[in-house]
Amino acid sequence: LSKTSRDLAEADKEANPIQVLEPVRNTFAAIGLDRAGDHRRDAAWIAERWAEPGARAIHVRGGELLTVEGRLELTPAAELDGPALFLGLDALGPVFAVQAGEDQRGAFSDLRGLAGELPPVEAHLAATARAVFGWHGRHRFCANCGAATDWADAGWKRICPACRAEHFPRTDPVVIMLATFEDQCLLGRNAAWPEGRYSALAGFLEPGESIEDACARELMEESGLTTLRVRYHSSQPWPLNPIGGQLMIGLFAEVADGRAEPDGVELTDLRWFTRAEARATLDGTHSEVKAPPPMAIAHQLIRAWAEGA
Ligand SMILES: [Zn+2]
Repeated sequence: LSKTSRDLAEADKEANPIQVLEPVRNTFAAIGLDRAGDHRRDAAWIAERWAEPGARAIHVRGGELLTVEGRLELTPAAELDGPALFLGLDALGPVFAVQAGEDQRGAFSDLRGLAGELPPVEAHLAATARAVFGWHGRHRFCANCGAATDWADAGWKRICPACRAEHFPRTDPVVIMLATFEDQCLLGRNAAWPEGRYSALAGFLEPGESIEDACARELMEESGLTTLRVRYHSSQPWPLNPIGGQLMIGLFAEVADGRAEPDGVELTDLRWFTRAEARATLDGTHSEVKAPPPMAIAHQLIRAWAEGA
């Protein structure tokens, strides 16, 4: 099985049209996988894929994945029972995910710790399964009428048998922005983070807001800064928050002045960094401040700016 996952890592390196569209590919983003989303509602097609000799499944339990030697365990589907979430087709065949019971043997690892170590295609599989199963766990009852809902479309929908309402896995958009003024960038500190950790500011989009609106509002609320111009950098699916799957939208925000004041609620401190200082936080050579790890879009935002973006 570990040979199979190594083969997958090789398949990762094959040309991927998504990389052509977007040169910045953050951890968890799609790679090497055809979701074949137009087949999900075809139960016979899904059953055929499950029965293929090359069909495999990963195992999810809460926020943890079953691993072997630091890689995802990919078990032949023939050895497993459904219902299984259809993740898509990779270079070796169909890939599914199953929810592991408490009696499942083997080593489970938290996705947060695992993400930076996995090959990109495995990180993507794990993130998708984690987000969709998390949604199933929180949406067992119909938001329209309150009846218990049923699993449908190979895990990509729930249907209410009472009122026929259809419910789809949700992704909540979050803006994450690196504020810049003259030749410095702004990082903030949340008291709940590990010691010395500073990062870009972030917040959920609200109904009725554009991405730029949300960026400007969050910067004003958390730092008192006025946003003049917003530029898009890249985005990242983020499955690690227990309240649900998110899409992080990475931005650079030029602000009107350098008078930043932490809100004292979410953020306890704000500091400006030159490009050299920002690079030091990324490289671990800054005496006081550590940037988030490379798997986080905040790290990539800071690096892109420090290198001249
Ligand atoms: Zn209902």
